[in-house]
Amino acid sequence: MRIAVLSDIHSNLPALEAMLAAIGEVDAVWHLGDVVGYGPHPDEVVDRLREMGAVGVRGNHDAAVLGGLEVEWFNPEARRAIEWTERRIGPSTRAWLEALPDQLVLDEMTLVHGSARSPIEEYVTSGTSARASFELLATPYLLHGHTHVPVAWREDGDRIEALGPSHGSELPLDERRLLLNPGSVGQPRDGDPRASALVLDTEARLALWLRARYPVASVQAAIRSAGLPRPLADRLAWGQ
Ligand code: ZN
Repeated sequence: MRIAVLSDIHSNLPALEAMLAAIGEVDAVWHLGDVVGYGPHPDEVVDRLREMGAVGVRGNHDAAVLGGLEVEWFNPEARRAIEWTERRIGPSTRAWLEALPDQLVLDEMTLVHGSARSPIEEYVTSGTSARASFELLATPYLLHGHTHVPVAWREDGDRIEALGPSHGSELPLDERRLLLNPGSVGQPRDGDPRASALVLDTEARLALWLRARYPVASVQAAIRSAGLPRPLADRLAWGQ
């Protein structure tokens, strides 16, 4: 089975389309939350995911748009985008977001937005936070996003190592447990503006990271004309 794993799409339809085209044919699409927030196309992105039968979990931005997380926790630009999204989305988008669980276990994979310890809010950015997730993990592999930076944390005996995957990097799905972060489709933050995602091949036992260029300028123009904060458009050019 070939599975596309998409995280932090953040209402960026051109990035999603470019990534899907780069990935090609798959048997399933899984997402790791933050489907909305920041970007200008919340309904369009949810429609596209629904049409593909994507399954996934709720992110902190998705929860905030539904009123399930205090907007005071977010920086002013993120908060303005959450409030804009709340006003803008239609009832079918709202219903789809409301149906997302905080955590999903699919065979050998656990899906969360943040971490195993705190599915919606914790950022796994250190060996210490990775270890906390390994301690709670009930499946061999965890798929998580939230940081917008592609990374794999691998448990090897007592050691935990961080692997920084670039475009085309592959990692074997073997007996060593893994926390796999695809990076962000719609707002990468690792200095590379290309959309980032992960493909799982359960027969070849591989995880493959991919990057895809998309028309950044058209999304920037849509962000500005929607009246969303300008820095949210600017940062897409740098991938920060
Ligand atoms: Zn996010």
